[in-house]
Formats: sequence, structure tokens, C-alpha cells
Amino acid sequence: MSRERLVVIGGDAAGLSAAAQARRLRPPEDLEIVVLEQGPEISYSACGIPYWIGDLVSDRDRLLARTPADFAATDVDIRIHTRAEGIDLAAGEVVAAGGERIGYDSLVVATGGKPMRPPVPGLDAAGVHGVHRLADGADIRAAIAAGAKRAVVLGGGYIGLEMAEVLQLRGLSVTVVLADPLPMGQLDDDMGELVCTAMCEMGIDVQTDQPVREIEVDVDGVVRAVRTDAGSYECDLVVLGLGMGPEISLARDAGLQIGVTGAIDVAHTQRSRSHPEVFAAGDCSQTFHRITGEAIHVALGTHANKQGRVAGSVIGGRPARFAGVLGTAMTKVGDLEVARTGLCTTQAEDGGFDYRTELIESSTRAGYYPGSAPIHVKIITERGSGLLLGAQVVGGPGSGKRIDVFATAIWAGMTAEALAGSDLSYAPPFSPTYDPVVVAARVASRIEQG
Ligand SMILES: Cc1cc2nc3c(=O)[nH]c(=O)nc-3n(C[C@H](O)[C@H](O)[C@H](O)COP(=O)(O)OP(=O)(O)OC[C@H]3O[C@@H](n4cnc5c(N)ncnc54)[C@H](O)[C@@H]3O)c2cc1C
Repeated sequence: MSRERLVVIGGDAAGLSAAAQARRLRPPEDLEIVVLEQGPEISYSACGIPYWIGDLVSDRDRLLARTPADFAATDVDIRIHTRAEGIDLAAGEVVAAGGERIGYDSLVVATGGKPMRPPVPGLDAAGVHGVHRLADGADIRAAIAAGAKRAVVLGGGYIGLEMAEVLQLRGLSVTVVLADPLPMGQLDDDMGELVCTAMCEMGIDVQTDQPVREIEVDVDGVVRAVRTDAGSYECDLVVLGLGMGPEISLARDAGLQIGVTGAIDVAHTQRSRSHPEVFAAGDCSQTFHRITGEAIHVALGTHANKQGRVAGSVIGGRPARFAGVLGTAMTKVGDLEVARTGLCTTQAEDGGFDYRTELIESSTRAGYYPGSAPIHVKIITERGSGLLLGAQVVGGPGSGKRIDVFATAIWAGMTAEALAGSDLSYAPPFSPTYDPVVVAARVASRIEQG
């Protein structure tokens, strides 16, 4: 049997998970693996960039999980500084920078995401930064070291919140400008209000309902303010935290099928629906919501790793399927932890669910135990069946990870009543006698029972 070749485009979470899993299942004499990465490094944690900017991570290299040499030790050929310029689907070849054509038996497209950029004048000015690659982190750190004092963060999603926090930590005065009425648009309004209030109490200036109209620049072309219809916010630094779309230019130009979300359309095996010898995984690919079954694009590392592993398994000969997403996500701003899973009320509404919501307030630990802080838990259940559809948590330290209990319960198809009766842990340093998760579930199930 002749040796097959797997080519992977993109050397981060999804691409390298695919390569590593394929290698685990197929030895080098059976499968050659080549990874093309356009950038200078592989296997970096974009998730850690805000914390490196905030000096919570001492050293950039701590964000690098593995090096090309680590992969070479398992006979995976990583080529950095090598951009894939094209895919010839008919010939089964990738065209690398410089014109080299690399034939493949299987191809994994893992080109990641691209930051949303509003179409406004001045966006390319010096002093406007994305937060996507390690180089962006280095640029923002350099701007702070050069004396930047005022920052405007565009967008109030998780990247916006994390950047607002760390820039403030570094001593900058921070304004967050968002087009939405509240930060964290994936939350219900009442939960978003809590986040907004906490940010304001931290001293972050939150300007809502204001799409950015222009980045104003000085005579040298350097950013000096962000203008909206309501005002102009002076700054030395602008950070784009407007979310992430899929990077699909290579796939689209090649003729791979693109889904309704604008990301690469794949089956649950991560195979392209139009070209089964091609797989796509991570931020460039479309996935599906586990509750509604709808196509969805969610740019999160947790999915990128799993989807890459699924692709690698299938290429390695072991059947695997990606199980879908619930939209579970968490972040923090200052001491406030924010998390969500499943459907929020607008999604439940749009999905045609007959639902009810309950919002409870409790504490993260026993009230008498040091460090106990308020926690708000909102749950969304299906009226009649009591099935859990979604949950949101906003509260002090120790709050956020509670979302995983809800995510697991929703994944398992549990009702609020079953969750309320579950054997969850209790000790004063960690929770009140009845954990806030149980309290919320119990309130919802009591109402269901009338
Ligand atoms: C600031 C920030 C914070 C985040 N925090 C979290 C978090 O807390 N939790 C979470 O789950 N997720 C988080 N994420 C999201 C997570 O980082 C991404 O979902 C994940 O990195 C996606 O992995 P990927 O492999 O699909 O894409 P990427 O990590 O974007 O990697 C794609 C790679 O492909 C390369 N590439 C693209 N085109 C080509 C080409 N033509 N030729 C060669 N190489 C190419 C790129 O250079 C890149 O290295 C965060 C992201 C950011 C930016």
C-alpha cells in the first residue's frame, strides 16, 4: 500500500488537533502529515493574549503550547511562514507560497477566524489594534510601554470585556463603545444590565447604543479619538473587540461549499459537504446547535480542538462525529464572572419554544464564609415538560464555572426537577447549603408543578 498524505492548512487549535490525532492513529509509514502555517509560530493560545497584555502572564512564550520540533518528533512536518495560496480541488493539490504544489489524499482546512472590522474611516490608522495573533498582543504591549494613557475598546463581547479589564489593570483609562444597548449580547437584558453596572462601578466608561462612525486621526495619521453619533472619545489606543467571523477566502475561492452562516459547510464528521476528501474544523467551519439543530458559527477554542480531533480521527480510520454546541461560554471582568449556556430568551423565542424563565439571587459561598459574593442565576425551561433549555450566571469569584453543571444537565436532557434533586456538593468555602444551581432549578420546577 502506498503512503498517503494529509495536508493541513493552519497550525493552531483545529489544524494541530487534527494532525496530532491522525498521527496517533496512523504511523508515518502509512500517513505523511504536512502542516502549512502562514505565521511565525504554531500552537499559540489566542485566549491568553489579553492576560499577557495585562501582565498576568509574564512571558509571551508561555502562550505557546507546542513547537514545530515537538511535532517533528512524531513525524509531522510543520512548515511555518508558509501560506497556502490556493487549493486545486480537481487535482487534489494545495498551492503553497512560492508556487510549490503539494498533493493530498486528505486535506484539513483550519484557517481560523478573522476579526470583524466595521466599515468606517480611519480603521487602518496607527494605534488601532486587533486582538487575534500574538503580534497584536506585542503591539498593544508596545503601545502601553510607549505611554498610551486612554484606550477605547470597540465591542462589548467577551474579548471586549477582557481587554477593558486588562487595559485598566495596566493603568489606562478605558471607554468601551458598543452598538448594542448592553454588553454581552448573548445574555438576556437583565443579566447584561448586571454586567454593565459592574463595569461602570469598576470605573470603565461604557457607551452603549453607539455604532462607531469614524476613527479620528491626528496630522501624523495616528488615532486620536473614536467618533459616534453621540460624541467623540479621545484616546491613544483603539482595540477591536467586535467578534470573529470565519476566514474562508481560500475555501471559497477553491469552490468548497459555504454554509448559511458564511462558514465552511461540514457534516458532523467535519467532512466538507461538497468535497468529502476535504475536512474543515475550528473557527472557519460551520457547526450546529444541539438544541435547535440549526446551523451556527461559534468561534471558540473549545470547539476548534474537538472538531480538529474529530477530523483527525476520521482521517485516521476511527469513526467520530462532532456532537454540536450549546453556546456555552464564560468570561470575567474584574471580579465579576459571566457565563451562559443553551438558549437565551430571544433564541428560545425565535426557536418557537414555549418557555419560562426564573432568576434567583444567592451567594457563591456560605454567607458567613470570607469572600462570599452575590451570584445571579437565570434559567430557561420548557413550559410543561420542565426541560432545561438555557442558563446564565453572573456573580463574584466562583460563579462562572457553575455554568458547566447546567451545560451538562442540558446536554443530558435533564429537567429542572431532576437537576434540583441532583447530588451536588456542599461545603461553606464553596457554596451555601443549597447551591445556587439547585436553588434556581428548584424554583423553576416548583413553578412547573404549580
Ligand atoms: C483574544 C481572544 C480570546 C479568546 N478567548 C477564548 C476563550 O477564553 N475560550 C475559548 O474557547 N476560545 C477563546 N478564543 C477563541 C479561540 O482562540 C479560537 O476559537 C481558536 O483559536 C480557533 O482555532 P482555529 O485553529 O480554528 O483557528 P486559529 O487559532 O485562528 O488558527 C488558524 C491558523 O491558520 C493560519 N492560516 C490561515 N490562513 C492560512 C493560509 N492560507 N495558509 C497557512 N496558514 C493559514 C493562521 O495563521 C492561524 O495560525 C479567543 C480568541 C481570541 C482572539
